[in-house]
Amino acid sequence: MFSIDHLGIAVKSLAAAKGIYEKLGLTVSQEEVVEAEQVRLVMVPVGESRLELLEATSETSAIAKFIAERGEGLHHVSLRVPDLEAAVQRLKKDGVRLVSEEIKIGAGGHRYVFVHPSSAGGVLLELVEAKG
Ligand code: ZN
Repeated sequence: MFSIDHLGIAVKSLAAAKGIYEKLGLTVSQEEVVEAEQVRLVMVPVGESRLELLEATSETSAIAKFIAERGEGLHHVSLRVPDLEAAVQRLKKDGVRLVSEEIKIGAGGHRYVFVHPSSAGGVLLELVEAKG
C-alpha cells in the first residue's frame, strides 16, 4: 500500500530544530549518522508518518548545499511503495529522471531511490520500499 513514509526537513542544527516538536509533546528519536549521505538525523513519529530532521555532517553534503542555496526547510517527501524494484523499472521506462540509477540501501537496511525534482513538480521525491 502507498503511504507517506516521512517528510525530510533540512536544518542547520538538530538540537535547535527538534525543540519545537519536544515542546509539542512529540517523541524525538536518538540521533543517527548516515555516513553515505553525510547527514545526522532524528526521526519524529507523527501519527502513521514521521518527520525526518536532517543536519549536514560535511560541507559537501547535499543537505549543506541545499541550505546554502535555499535556506532551511522542506527537503524531500518520502513515499512508501509496495514494490520498489517494479516502480523504478516503470519510471525509468517512462523517462522519469532519477537522482541515482540504482536503488540504495539506507540506515536500518531500508531500500530507497530519489526521483529528481524536475520529474516530480519541483519536489525531491524519495521512494522507499514498504516492509512486509
Ligand atoms: Zn528521507
